[in-house]
Amino acid sequence: MVRTLSRPSTARFGTRLSIVGTARENRHLRVDARGSSAADEFLAGAVLGLSLWLCQHGVDRLSVCAGQHCGTMFLDATTGRVRRFCGKRCATRTHVQKHRARLAHTRSYTPLTEGSRSR
Ligand SMILES: [Zn+2]
Repeated sequence: MVRTLSRPSTARFGTRLSIVGTARENRHLRVDARGSSAADEFLAGAVLGLSLWLCQHGVDRLSVCAGQHCGTMFLDATTGRVRRFCGKRCATRTHVQKHRARLAHTRSYTPLTEGSRSR
């Protein structure tokens, strides 16, 4: 059994989304991209996967990395929705920058002592 779900996309992008399978246990979605490039087929599959994930977990799970100059989007699959960075590299880089900024601020601050006060 094949049931086509997305006829309008066939005309525009050359891909077709279908439910395939006869029994409930073996039904699955299939992206058919006959006549399309491998890139179009891969893109259609990626969009399908992302759409299904977002429908299941919620759009608010899609986040932008908090790393400076990063802007990478990622899916937050943590239970507490606490993920802030796209990966460990961005998290470490950001934390090191903040640590160095704190150190620089601390070193530039020299508290007044009895001997250093102006007369
Ligand atoms: Zn990042």
